[in-house]
Amino acid sequence: MDKAGKSERKAKLKAWRDGEHEKARALFPLESSRLQHFFDGVEALRAEQGCFHDIRHSMQVIDAMQLSGAEANALLDWCNDHGGFCDCEIAGNAFLYWRDARV
Ligand SMILES: [Zn+2]
Repeated sequence: MDKAGKSERKAKLKAWRDGEHEKARALFPLESSRLQHFFDGVEALRAEQGCFHDIRHSMQVIDAMQLSGAEANALLDWCNDHGGFCDCEIAGNAFLYWRDARV
């Protein structure tokens, strides 16, 4: 492939990724500033205490953020959808998914 072809492919790939990220952002369960707060809180507790293979840290942060039941459910469902089933997976998989797609 020549150079022009390569940069065209790169541009197409970027456009596709941007589109995927836009779709991903539309499904974020909370605005990014609150997700940032959530992930920071979970990661801080995980770093300090480790993961207990449950979501106790996430629940503690959700509690502190005073999310409604509906918001908490949407957030945890969304974490599940992106590989976050326990605190370390939420701080890892779901966090990386969010970080990649956020603006
Ligand atoms: Zn874990």
